Amino acid sequence: MKNIVAIYPGSFDPVTNGHLDLIHRGSKLFDKLIVAIARNLEKSETLFSMEERSEMLVAMTSELDNVCVDTFEGLLVSYCVKNNANAVLRGIRAISDYEFELQMALMNRKMEPRVETIFMMPAEQYSYLSSRIVREIAKLGGPLNGLVPKMVEDRVREKIAHYHTASQATHLL
Ligand code: ADP
Repeated sequence: MKNIVAIYPGSFDPVTNGHLDLIHRGSKLFDKLIVAIARNLEKSETLFSMEERSEMLVAMTSELDNVCVDTFEGLLVSYCVKNNANAVLRGIRAISDYEFELQMALMNRKMEPRVETIFMMPAEQYSYLSSRIVREIAKLGGPLNGLVPKMVEDRVREKIAHYHTASQATHLL
């Protein structure tokens, strides 16, 4: 049997039930799964810091022995080689994800043919779920139950409340 080490890269800002669905599926399939938070230069405006995102992911995956959480910068394929990983896990929700994911997967394969990209589909109830929609709903005061774990919901609400207070304070100046 081969030893399959997979990397699950993403922004995880914040981790959602859709991400966790994929992590659970991946942990059953792979010998080791590294959830890798990308320091993405284009997405500099994140709601949570790297440390906060990492903390939430660690707490939510602690019962999975073959799953660990890390951060990385630079090319994903270089990070894969450094960690002896032979697979990249990505989620496909709707057809709209496909075009971008295909381009990334083929480009990564061109740069590093030893690494295969594996796509997984989440449970149907998570197929419309994204970190972005969670941030939007939270900002508008909507319900987050069923979308993220309770601990993440609390952290999101805390963060949004902090922003509201900060921006109200600015308006007063
Ligand atoms: P990125 O900025 O790389 O898209 P995300 O944190 O948004 O980072 O997503 C990381 C990975 O998880 C991507 O492959 C994305 O398609 C997948 N993903 C995000 N939300 C879901 C979901 N609800 N169900 C399944 N996969 C998801």
